[in-house]
Amino acid sequence: MKSLTSFIAALAVGFAAIALPASAQDKGTVGIAMPTKSSLRWISDGNELVKALEAKGYAADLQYAEDDIPNQLAQIENMVTKDVKVLVIASIDGTTLSAVLQQAADKGVKVVAYDRLIRDSPNVDFYTTFDNFKVGVLQADSLLKGLGYPEKQGPFNIELFGGSPDDNNAFFFYDGAMSVLQPLIDKGVLVVKSGQMGMEKVGTLRWDGAVAQARMDNILSANYSDGSRVDGVLAPYDGLSRGIISSLRGVGYGTADQPWPIVTGQDAEVPSVKAIIAGEQYSTVFKDTRELAKVTANLVDAVLSGKEPEINDTKTYENGVKVVPSYLLVPVSVDKANYEPIVVGSGYIKADELK
Ligand code: BGC
Repeated sequence: MKSLTSFIAALAVGFAAIALPASAQDKGTVGIAMPTKSSLRWISDGNELVKALEAKGYAADLQYAEDDIPNQLAQIENMVTKDVKVLVIASIDGTTLSAVLQQAADKGVKVVAYDRLIRDSPNVDFYTTFDNFKVGVLQADSLLKGLGYPEKQGPFNIELFGGSPDDNNAFFFYDGAMSVLQPLIDKGVLVVKSGQMGMEKVGTLRWDGAVAQARMDNILSANYSDGSRVDGVLAPYDGLSRGIISSLRGVGYGTADQPWPIVTGQDAEVPSVKAIIAGEQYSTVFKDTRELAKVTANLVDAVLSGKEPEINDTKTYENGVKVVPSYLLVPVSVDKANYEPIVVGSGYIKADELK
């Protein structure tokens, strides 16, 4: 009888151990502010972050602001009021959060800028992202590869698109790309027929594909109605690439006589990987956001456990007030030749989604 009792007691302890994994509420709540659900990558970023934080025993308050700046501000204010332990923020406009971040700092809440640097505030403790300059270099390299340079010497007509001027990343992407393209523009190998260069001319507010499409429409009618063709387009994000491709389709590209120009991209979004398979878009840049979420959750956990968070860059990301200690992941260039092993093989996109 005694042994039965102790068996039951042992069983109960066993059950208790099973029923008590660090419950979400134990370690407190992490506030996650994401920019928009209109792009697949941010949906997956949000989901992966919640998963990774919950696995470490935190609860997560995940909010999307649909690219509306006051909305994101209100969401973050609300998180600070609700006493989240850490804020993880992918900002819409990286310069508009100073006041709320001061409130957070006053309460001892640490702030992680997620993927996009938050500018002009001393209250940004860490930054997790990819090597954003490298993203631009990869886009330019792949544009050249698609054009057949250096075997073919051109001249090639290209047009340039930039990301949203309120997103610090957009400048890194553009500068990275121009570090490769500018010397060839100077040599006359590449010709920007519209003459539109520099982020002030090529930037695309809020990364809006419709804005890129309209700008491409204008460029085509003003510069290419004389029978000349666009050979390549530098596009920094798949959503813009799709707008640009629609514009090109509208004037007859995508046929045997008028083949698609080389169009780059970023994020390996499902519709764009499909477009790559179909030969409409040439390439994208794959950034494994599952890894970014993991790195960020580890960093949050280290901060809250009083440990030293892992960082691997302490000089690149100056935010106007200070250099923000960063963890940079490595982006990968993807085209028709390697999307299978890299994007599907890693499980980022399921083969079925591409049918
Ligand atoms: C991200 C890119 C994304 C873009 C538009 C940037 O800040 O780094 O991955 O394509 O925003 O959402």
